[in-house]
Amino acid sequence: MHEIKSAGLKGLGVFAKTFIPRGTRIFSEAPLLAISPGQNAGDIYSASRSLSSDDRRRFLGLSTHVTNELKIMRWSQAVWYTLTHTLSSLFRREKGIGAMSWPNPKEHVTIISIFRNNAFNLGASSAFQQAVFPKISRINHSCVPNAQGNFHDELGRFNIHATRDIETGEELTLNYLQELGAAREVRQERLMSGYGFSCECTACDMSSSKGRDSEKRRVKMHEELAKYVEEVAGGSVQSSEAELEAVQRFIRLLEGERIAGRELSSLYLEAAKLNEGHGKLKEALHCAERGLEIDRDCLGIDHPLYQNSLKAVDDLRRLQ
Ligand SMILES: [Zn+2]
Repeated sequence: MHEIKSAGLKGLGVFAKTFIPRGTRIFSEAPLLAISPGQNAGDIYSASRSLSSDDRRRFLGLSTHVTNELKIMRWSQAVWYTLTHTLSSLFRREKGIGAMSWPNPKEHVTIISIFRNNAFNLGASSAFQQAVFPKISRINHSCVPNAQGNFHDELGRFNIHATRDIETGEELTLNYLQELGAAREVRQERLMSGYGFSCECTACDMSSSKGRDSEKRRVKMHEELAKYVEEVAGGSVQSSEAELEAVQRFIRLLEGERIAGRELSSLYLEAAKLNEGHGKLKEALHCAERGLEIDRDCLGIDHPLYQNSLKAVDDLRRLQ
């Protein structure tokens, strides 16, 4: 269904070998290296030292981008790790427990840089906070992605789903950025400082009318979000009518951009709750069903979050 091959200046990329319908689980992968909430750079390095030689080679083959500022911070973390682990190792040898094992600060910096550059945030509800998936890391970024990854805790795997139909030969893309609706300049700055590349997706291409229209919509979405947050903070927006209106506007803007996935389903499910609060049960059910459909596409029916959405729809159906 898919293959890894050259994506030009971007390096490697993942491409559809056949037509992939929306909602398809394209592939899934178990984490190669992961940290739990509360763990730090030292834990990442320690975990990396127990990788098999094959897994280590796969990990070291991933891309890395480090700014000077980050390099300085990571070297200080590496030196600290080396110092504390060398001391504890010496102490253990003195006591006759264990052999000396020398951490390597240069290797420490490389491991942490690759991890930070490639790790996915798995969300607060997951057993892992961040994890690296070597094959998924080959999927390049787009500000208008055609796929989304979500971690399935029970399966222990990160599943990649098509959020819209993907044509044969089309490159699979994910959104690397957390914030939705940021203007092109902001996205480019974050991608350059975080990953070391500038995006050339259709939403970033200002030479086309498609790119310019997309930019207008995103700037508008960003302005509306900022205005809404300001109004809420200032206490001028209290009614849930206004909240519903804001949620609906974001839905329209995301759909205008053809952005699907969890962000959109969450908005629909929020709109369902607000409609229900106003006694608009028909509208509430319509929004919840749309949210469920999007969750089915981006999560799959075996995902616990899909099951939550299904329950919300069932509850609303009973109320009709
Ligand atoms: Zn872009």
